[in-house]
Amino acid sequence: MSQENMRAMMFLGPGDLELQEIPIPKPEPDQVLVKIHAATTCGTDAKAYRRGHHLMQPPTLFGHEFAGEVVAVGSEIKNFSIGMRVVPHNSAPCQVCFHCKIGQENLCEHLIFNFGAFAEYAIIPGPIVRLNTFEIPDHISYTQASILEPLVSVVHGQRILQIQPGERVAIIGAGGPIGLMHLQMALRSGASQVIAVDLSDTRLKVAEKLGATALINPNGDDPVEAIRSLTGGLGADVTIESAGAKAAWLTALKAVRKGGRVQWFGGLKSGETIDLDTHWVHYGELTLYGTFHGTPLDVQRAFELINSGVIDAQALISGELPLERVEDALKMMIEGEVVKMAIRPDLPAQ
Ligand SMILES: [Zn+2]
Ligand SMILES: [Zn+2]
Repeated sequence: MSQENMRAMMFLGPGDLELQEIPIPKPEPDQVLVKIHAATTCGTDAKAYRRGHHLMQPPTLFGHEFAGEVVAVGSEIKNFSIGMRVVPHNSAPCQVCFHCKIGQENLCEHLIFNFGAFAEYAIIPGPIVRLNTFEIPDHISYTQASILEPLVSVVHGQRILQIQPGERVAIIGAGGPIGLMHLQMALRSGASQVIAVDLSDTRLKVAEKLGATALINPNGDDPVEAIRSLTGGLGADVTIESAGAKAAWLTALKAVRKGGRVQWFGGLKSGETIDLDTHWVHYGELTLYGTFHGTPLDVQRAFELINSGVIDAQALISGELPLERVEDALKMMIEGEVVKMAIRPDLPAQ
């Protein structure tokens, strides 16, 4: 490569992003260098932009969902070569700690994460190359492949929930990328109802297009009452919270039926607590799930779901923007105007 520098969006702190010119990294023996063709904005990026994130200590490279073309490989790399279209997951477990040994690699003590999707080039670290990087088939676009990381978490959450045919599911925060993937998965599992709750009518329309059986905007309707009335007064068999907001956590808890399952998917700020009605949890015999990230098995399965078209990846992409406009994309996400935006470094700045 003749070019020595690249443009990369740096995270300098909450509300502070800057497009900088930095050297293109060179791959170590076990690494792969990728020219990024598409990256997607994620709820986690929006969260970090708003209030910071414990995994992103500024100044740091930003963004973690991308796909691109291999342009250089380290001396030890055998299974990837220059010109291959690839998508990496954003993390890899150590494979030797307690949690890794018992198959809970998502809880690995030494998970390594990779950032730098909003840039022209990115390094894929060795552990991610070895475990969690895939060659993209021709019929899948770079943008479609980019949604691998959030889908991994959804696959993980769905494997925990084991939704049964005929069950009634309510998703709180259904119009976001995570909620829309849960929606598609729940329908595939045979849910008889998938009730979509979201504060954005624009995003509820996307949920409707993807098969939501009822749409509820808490700005107009009480979501708990609405979900109960749609389920014969009982509440949903399964509620999934994917908004990352305290109110949504409580809605998920209150709108589930006796004996039902609640999954709190969206993380709240560290130290944040919610009021839990212990009487309801105990006599209602509720099952309450936290869920975080995914294992290499989930990564493999998520990749298959994208390739097969079972998950409509394109439906989650509201539009595309050049690298210069990452901040605008995140603001649009925060306002609920879009689901996800594709960031394409090859698009000219407007
Ligand atoms: Zn993400
Ligand atoms: Zn580990």
